[in-house]
Amino acid sequence: MNLEDIKTIKGLLSTQQKIVIVPHKNPDGDAIGSTLALWHYLSNKGQKATIVAPNDYPKFLKWMPGNQKIVNFEKQNSLAKRSIEEATIIFTLDFNHLGRIGQMQELLEASNSTFVMIDHHQAPADYAKIMYSDVEMSSTCEMVYNFIEFLDDLDTITPDMANCLYTGIMTDTGSFKFSSTSSRTHRVVGHLIDKGANNTEIHNKIYDTNTPNRLHLLGCALRNMTILNEYSTAYITLSQEELDAFNYQKGDTEGFVNYGLTLAGVRFAVIFIENKEEGIIKISFRSEGDFSVNKFARNHFNGGGHDNAAGGRSDISMLETTAYFESLLPQYKTSLNA
Ligand code: 5GP
Ligand code: MN
Repeated sequence: MNLEDIKTIKGLLSTQQKIVIVPHKNPDGDAIGSTLALWHYLSNKGQKATIVAPNDYPKFLKWMPGNQKIVNFEKQNSLAKRSIEEATIIFTLDFNHLGRIGQMQELLEASNSTFVMIDHHQAPADYAKIMYSDVEMSSTCEMVYNFIEFLDDLDTITPDMANCLYTGIMTDTGSFKFSSTSSRTHRVVGHLIDKGANNTEIHNKIYDTNTPNRLHLLGCALRNMTILNEYSTAYITLSQEELDAFNYQKGDTEGFVNYGLTLAGVRFAVIFIENKEEGIIKISFRSEGDFSVNKFARNHFNGGGHDNAAGGRSDISMLETTAYFESLLPQYKTSLNA
């Protein structure tokens, strides 16, 4: 963030504002952690702030302090609408174009409030007056920590804020192992533990909440895995019938895509998950090394994300989607085997 922007933000926050904080659709640990931490920070400063999430999110994220204050746009539509319409500042966190917030897009586009973007994805769109965008960052939570530091307020971090920020950094870095994890990331989480983040408890609450159904769904996913050695690629499919058979709950498939990458020699892993209600196949892409799944998702599946973790979607059937996917691989053969 440049000095000018920091000055502008300081000026804005020195008077009473009506603030709305928005994470992306299908929010993950980083999206929920960062919006809640910012919400605690602004509320403690005396600001009126409301988090409006485009839709629901997994149960394993709902223990975070302040969670009950999050307004769900789908379930509490009139309250959500009113907050957005009255907002003088809208913070958008963990995404960088308004197509990532589903049904909320129109309302935000119509808003005359000051937009502040805090985000670490590639190719930011140009809708925010204040853009704190940095693809080198491990997570939006690390950026919210920096944001608080820019405002000279690190000493105001409470245990609640520390727990939220720790959670998002942990989930977005695959527990501090992805290449986006810097020494600075470790210093930040160290400081968060000093400030009251309960690291062991957070790990348990996020990762040790399996149900028998989820483990059986994982078994099904792993049996469905197709390994294409020629392209160093592995992909998984899950149909709606399979999800239903294991009483799928939001978040149950989180992390499944990573199993492909644990195969020796595999550098590109994909999961295709059918969503009959939305009439789409939701896709997650992961890679190791130089193969950019962000570009792949952007070019072929109407998506995007980071170089090593991205998402997208397909509007055709599962069989057609995987056939199309396989048909794309030959043109990437050299980079996949590099
Ligand atoms: P996931 O596969 O865990 O849903 O997402 C991986 C990364 O890609 C996340 O950073 C997420 O924000 C981003 N992402 C997921 N789906 C989409 C999408 O449809 N469009 C874009 N632009 N990014 C996505
Ligand atoms: Mn993130």
